[in-house]
Amino acid sequence: MNYKDYIRIIPDFPQPGIKFKDITTLTNNGPVYASAIEAIRQAVSDKQIDLVAGPEARGFIIGAPLAISLGAGFVPIRKSGKLPGEVVEASYDLEYGKDKLAIHKDAIKPGQRVLIADDLLATGGTIATTINLIRQLGGEVVGSAFLIELGYLDGRSKIDGIDVFSLMTY
Ligand code: AMP
Repeated sequence: MNYKDYIRIIPDFPQPGIKFKDITTLTNNGPVYASAIEAIRQAVSDKQIDLVAGPEARGFIIGAPLAISLGAGFVPIRKSGKLPGEVVEASYDLEYGKDKLAIHKDAIKPGQRVLIADDLLATGGTIATTINLIRQLGGEVVGSAFLIELGYLDGRSKIDGIDVFSLMTY
């Protein structure tokens, strides 16, 4: 399957110069969405994953179905101020802008094996911050999985030592 046929590229969103990769044109096609999740599941199936962690918001679209297909739990990583319980937080830079992410303190038990999932790896700032939060709770980050990787931004270099699987690379 050529998944790129289902990605819509929108220039200058959310600001001039960004070529936004819109995944909604993939996820609104049931068989293609299922096939993409299944391809990611196969790529990470040897990792004995306890939990999938996905950053708000599009990390939920990939991470939650992936967690179910793996028989793993799902942990939401949210923007600051959204989670109701006790949290740990960390700040980070985006390809566009700045943000702060949070995780529930009791979301991960020490030693649990966690896969990170998101729609897109750009500069790697989101994932580096997610790794930081998971490790603060004692979780073991066993890999990361994305629909899309922007190879030219070299996000991989920010998450050195962690396996990266991406279904598509631009
Ligand atoms: P980064 O922290 O730079 O790796 O950015 C990753 C996050 O920003 C992902 O969760 C994406 O949802 C979003 N993002 C960054 N750049 C783009 C882009 N060109 N198209 C779509 N989403 C993007």
